[in-house]
Amino acid sequence: MSSDSSNRNGWYMHTGYDESQELYGKILSIVARHSNDDDISATLDGDAIGGEGSVARIKKAKRQLFGILLGEVKNQDLAVYLTKNHASEGKEAIDYVMGCFSAGDDVLKLKAVDKEYKKIERDGLPASGNVDECNKILTKMSNIASQLKGKNAEGYAISTQRHVRNMIYMVENIGSEYEHEIRMQIDQFDEATIANVPKSAGMLDSIMRLVATREREKVDADDKRFKVMLVEQGLCTADGVEVYAANLRRRQQPWPNSDGVCDFCKIRHGGGLSSCHAKMLSEGKKPPKWGEMSKDQQERLIDRAEKASPGCKTKHGLAVFICDVKNLAKNPCYATGDLFVGAIAPNTVELCVDSQAAPSCQYHFIRDETLFISIDARSREGEA
Ligand SMILES: [Zn+2]
Repeated sequence: MSSDSSNRNGWYMHTGYDESQELYGKILSIVARHSNDDDISATLDGDAIGGEGSVARIKKAKRQLFGILLGEVKNQDLAVYLTKNHASEGKEAIDYVMGCFSAGDDVLKLKAVDKEYKKIERDGLPASGNVDECNKILTKMSNIASQLKGKNAEGYAISTQRHVRNMIYMVENIGSEYEHEIRMQIDQFDEATIANVPKSAGMLDSIMRLVATREREKVDADDKRFKVMLVEQGLCTADGVEVYAANLRRRQQPWPNSDGVCDFCKIRHGGGLSSCHAKMLSEGKKPPKWGEMSKDQQERLIDRAEKASPGCKTKHGLAVFICDVKNLAKNPCYATGDLFVGAIAPNTVELCVDSQAAPSCQYHFIRDETLFISIDARSREGEA
């Protein structure tokens, strides 16, 4: 019979020792969350269930344990075998699955398990310090250590203390912050703790979580700065920055170069060179949402464009164009050219002004010519 497992929901394929250990861990966690956890745990540990109605309770727990196991198994052949031979006997079924790969006294298997331990030690914990990932690896290591426990005659035994110290080194090696934190808390790893794998693992878990939280706070602060910069750059408004930043991350656009600094404007901004607003301005193009930017934002962008491409301000007539209505007669406008309008102050009016001043351009709108001292003849509507 082939292993056509497509109709099963589980994941366990029965491929080897690692996977069987992962299965065991998963079963433990499901049992811990089960409404009948006491009885099922006792069944799994081979402990007696006494008291009133114990016969029915034992039967029920065994059946539930079998159900938990079968729910994880995807390998169809294994599922059929277990159902035929160990149905309603969860503990037996699990023992069978684990026994297929556990070391026992088989020297070859012991050697393989010992090598596996060494490999985990060598590979270390992920540099990301992802606590769940790290715990998974440390748990696997502890499972292996317990398999090797008492294998003195074969020369494979790892003492509990040796194993706990190995775990501590693993956490230290994630990075200097971890090493520092363990140094600060090393007194807590007293003799009794070092002799207790679950207690030590629990303490290492707290240390990793502590460092991870600190790192996250640092990332949050960076994130805050990043969002301020997005608004400053005029890429979005303050109200829209959350959505904009989320979209940016979803697209996972790489920074323009490895330092994250734009090649053109030398500032960190999203979207790469093609989204560089300063570059657009330097080429006489209007950046998106220009009209929604504050005057300050517009001026800063024009300055940035001029800095990156000297002369572009004059060439394209870049200016934040403001008309003061009260002093219109004396000082109708102080734009250096004919480009952009950013009228936001109470005493200003917004004008639609030709942005290109070239006969080939489609739009040449000036609402009120009296606001200008002089107008280039080519700007008049229809005079292409
Ligand atoms: Zn740029």
